[in-house]
Order: sequence, then structure tokens, then C-alpha cells
Amino acid sequence: MSAKDWLQKAKNEKFAIGAFNVGNLETFKAVIKAAADKKSPIIIESSPGETEWMGADNIVDIARNFTAEFGIPVLVNLDHALTLEECQQGIDSGYDLIHFDGSKLPYEQNVELAKQVVELAHARGLTCEGELDHIGGSSEVHQGSAGEEAAKIAMTEPEKAAQFVKATGVDIFAAFIGNVHGLYLGQQKNLDIDRLKKIAEATGVYLSLHGSSGIPEEQVKEAIQNGIVKVNLNTEIRQSYKDSLEKVLQENPGEYAMYKVEGVVLDEIQRLVEAKIDLFGSGNKL
Ligand SMILES: [Zn+2]
Repeated sequence: MSAKDWLQKAKNEKFAIGAFNVGNLETFKAVIKAAADKKSPIIIESSPGETEWMGADNIVDIARNFTAEFGIPVLVNLDHALTLEECQQGIDSGYDLIHFDGSKLPYEQNVELAKQVVELAHARGLTCEGELDHIGGSSEVHQGSAGEEAAKIAMTEPEKAAQFVKATGVDIFAAFIGNVHGLYLGQQKNLDIDRLKKIAEATGVYLSLHGSSGIPEEQVKEAIQNGIVKVNLNTEIRQSYKDSLEKVLQENPGEYAMYKVEGVVLDEIQRLVEAKIDLFGSGNKL
């Protein structure tokens, strides 16, 4: 099944496929093991920083190797690629989904480049995601309030989203409905579900939910019932990695085998991802 087939299945059956960012082999393996245990479709994704660190070819090869080892489909998404060159590299490396993020560009330029990426991606049978209203924040733990961060950017207007989708031909639209990137220790995120419903009706394409870290579970469920088929998660994975690594190093000062130290970290991330798969409703969908 192609990425598009999986997204359509998710849309028909009202579940979402988790798109989990991987910054190293341990997080990668944890996500795959969680998906295998839960019999869930999965998207592995890499931001520009993660792609540079891991190598685009390596990420795709590792995904294909895990598919062979665990017998599960692993879709690979290029997350927030900012330039045509980055998108081309992702396409050449064999990614299944390409997210071109031109949201910081003037509208006309965003549309023009997104159109080109869609053409390149579709020529290879790949799926393309576009972004119109820049989804702010960053994939880190922030002291402040999510509401204040979200208020810096206007939320997506359904009619403008429909125009953008029509002009570019993107398959997936990254809507901004309060879902800023990152985890906020102050006031939590609050999604505008009514706006999401209108965006789904106006665009008719697959919708993604970026910045899902820290969104109240009930709101994530509601978003999936109203058009979200892909949920991106990064910060909670990064937090789990850092916290569990610090803990295991502190508790085992005499342990030098990195695979034993990292094994504890991997188990923690796997537990987190399994809980997310339950929340997204994608378990037992293979
Ligand atoms: Zn994002």
C-alpha cells in the first residue's frame, strides 16, 4: 500500500497515523518496535536538523531494513523541508512523503514552489504536504504558555486553505488551529475544532496535526474525528529520551556498554509511542 492508500484508509476508518520524528537509531528502533507490537501503520519522519544528522539515505535504508525485519510497513516523511533542493534530495533518497514548508515565504512564492514539489513528488508516485500559515514554536520544552505562542500567528482561514490546496495540488494540508510546536509548561494548547471542521470541508484533502506534544488527549481524539489523519510528534519523544538517559546514567555510573544504557531509554520511548498509537486509534490496522 502506498502512503496515499494508508491515509485514505485512516480517513475512511477515522484513525490517524502517527508521524514520529527520529533523531538517532535508538528513537527509530523504539518507534518501530512500538508499531510492530501494536500492529500499527507508522510514519517515521525527519526534520531538516534530523535529516542532516542521520543522512537522508540512511533514514530510508534503516526504514526498509526494519520493514524486512519486523514485517510492518514503515512510511518515511521528510518533515518541514524548506527548499526545493531539500525536497529533491528527499525524493531521490526514496522518502514516501514530502512536506514542503513554504509558510514563511510570501504567498505567491509558497504556491509556486509547492506546485513544483507536488509535480516532482507525484511523478514518482509520492505524497506531498503543504503548509500555509506558519506553525510556530519549536520542538523543545518551553516554560511559557502555549496560548501566548499560538496567538503570535493567525489561525488558518478555511477559504484561504482551500485556495492554497487548489492552486498547489498538495495531498496533505498542515492546518494551524492552535497546534504550536513544542511542549509548554505553562498554559496548555487549545485546538479550534470548529475551524478544523471547516478546513476539512473546504479543502477536501488529508489533514495533518503538527505539534501534538501536550495537546489534551480529548482534543486529539476530537481532531481525528474531524479530519486529521496524520499526527506529528517530536517534543515528547525528545523529552522522554533526555529524561530517561539522564536517569539511567545517574543510576548506573559503572555501566559502559552503550546498548545497555540505551536499551533502558528505548523501552521508555517505546512505551510513550505505544500510548500514542492507542490514542490515535491506529493499532491493529495492519
Ligand atoms: Zn511540524
